[in-house]
Amino acid sequence: MKILVLNSGSSSIKYQLFRSEDWVSIANGLVARIAEPKGELKHTWLEADGSQRSSEETHPVANHDEGIDRIVARLRDTGSLADVSELVAIGHRVVHGGTHFKEPVIVDDGVVEAIRGVIALAPLHNPGNLSGIEVTRRLFPKVPSVAIFDTAFHQSMTPTAYRYAIPEYLYTKHQIRRYGFHGTSHLYVAKRAARLLGKPLSQCNLITLHLGNGTSATAIRRGQCMDTSMGMTPLEGLVMGTRSGDIDPGVLIYLNQNLGFDIDQIDHLLNRESGLLGICGVNDMREIDRQAGEGNARAKLAISINVHRLKKYIGAYYAVLGQVHAIVFTGGIGENSAQIRARSCKGLERLGIVLDASANQSGDSRGERCVSVADGEVKVLVIPTNEELEIAQQAMTAVGLQ
Ligand code: ADP
Repeated sequence: MKILVLNSGSSSIKYQLFRSEDWVSIANGLVARIAEPKGELKHTWLEADGSQRSSEETHPVANHDEGIDRIVARLRDTGSLADVSELVAIGHRVVHGGTHFKEPVIVDDGVVEAIRGVIALAPLHNPGNLSGIEVTRRLFPKVPSVAIFDTAFHQSMTPTAYRYAIPEYLYTKHQIRRYGFHGTSHLYVAKRAARLLGKPLSQCNLITLHLGNGTSATAIRRGQCMDTSMGMTPLEGLVMGTRSGDIDPGVLIYLNQNLGFDIDQIDHLLNRESGLLGICGVNDMREIDRQAGEGNARAKLAISINVHRLKKYIGAYYAVLGQVHAIVFTGGIGENSAQIRARSCKGLERLGIVLDASANQSGDSRGERCVSVADGEVKVLVIPTNEELEIAQQAMTAVGLQ
C-alpha cells in the first residue's frame, strides 16, 4: 500500500510517497513556481535495486491541477506508483484547523468549508493547502484525502494556556486565542522520544524544541500538549530566522505612533525583517555560526539572544510540567547545532539537565541520539523530525488501515 503526502502552498507543492510495509519514502520532490512563466519539478526516487536517482525539469505549471497531474505522472514514469489505485490515502498538511480539528480527518465537503472558514487565521497557508485538497478530491475521487493539521496536537491546551489576557469577546466572537503550530513535528518527536525512553507516550513529560527557520517549544504532560510557544499566529515565542518571536506589544504601538509605521509595515518588519536576520543581518544559523567564530559581534549577539530565550522557555515549561523526563531538540538547528544545544542547557544542571559534552559534540552522528550524561535525571535527546512520515502514518490510521 502507498500513501502520498502533499504539502501544498500557494505557489509550490512538496510531496513524498511512502510504502506502508516498511514506511520507506520511495519518492519525493517539489513542484515550484506554479502559475509563473518558469515552473520547476524536482523529483527524487528509489530504483528497484535501492539506488537513488533524481531529475529536474523546467516547464510552466499553470495551476495546482497541473502540478499534481505532473507529480503523479512523474511517480508513474519512474516506477514508484504504477497506478493511482495503489494509493490508500493522500495526506495533506494543513496549517490551521482552528478549534474544529483535534485529529486528522477524511476530507468531505464539510471539512473543506471548515478549513475555508479559518482562512483569516492563516491567510498565507490555508488557501494553498486547500487548493491541493480540492484538486486531489477532483482528480482522484476514489482515494481518501486526509487533512492533518499543524494546530491539532495543541488542541489539548486548556484555556489557562491558550487564552490571552484581553477582553473575552475577542475570544468568544473572534477566536483570538493561542493555537500553536508545528504540531505534527512536536508529536512525531514526542512519539520517538517515548520509544527511546522505553515507555508509552502517555507516561512521558517532555519539552520539545523544534528549531528550524520557524521555531517553537512545547510542554507535553503525559503525552498531551499543555503549552506551546507559538500563538494565534506563528509569530509568538522563540527567536526565529526572520520572525521576532515574543515582543512587548507596546513596541507595535510605539512604531505606529512615533515612527509612522502602518500595519503592513509592522507585519513585514516582525515577520520578515526580524529574528536572527534583524539582529545580525543573516538568518541562516550556519552562516551566523561562521561569522560568530570570526568574532563578529552582531552574530555573537544573535546567538546569545536566541539561546537566552530558549533557556527561558525550557525553564518556564519545566515549571509548567513539574517533572520532565526528556528535552528533545529537533529541526535544522536543533538537530545540527551542538553549540545551541549546549548553551541553552548550560546552567540548568540543578534541574537535572546535564549534557555529555562529547556525545553532544559528536558531529558525524546524525540519527536519533541521547546527548545527556548516562545517569542524567532529564534525558536530552536529538531526534530528526519527519513530519511527512507522521502525516503518512496518521493518514493511514484515519482511513482505518493501521
Ligand atoms: P525549516 O523550518 O525551513 O524546515 P530547517 O529545519 O531546515 O528549516 O532549519 C533551517 C535552519 O537550520 C537554518 O538556520 C540552518 O542554518 C540551520 N542548520 C542546518 N544545518 C546546520 C548546522 N550544521 N549547524 C547549525 N545550523 C544548521
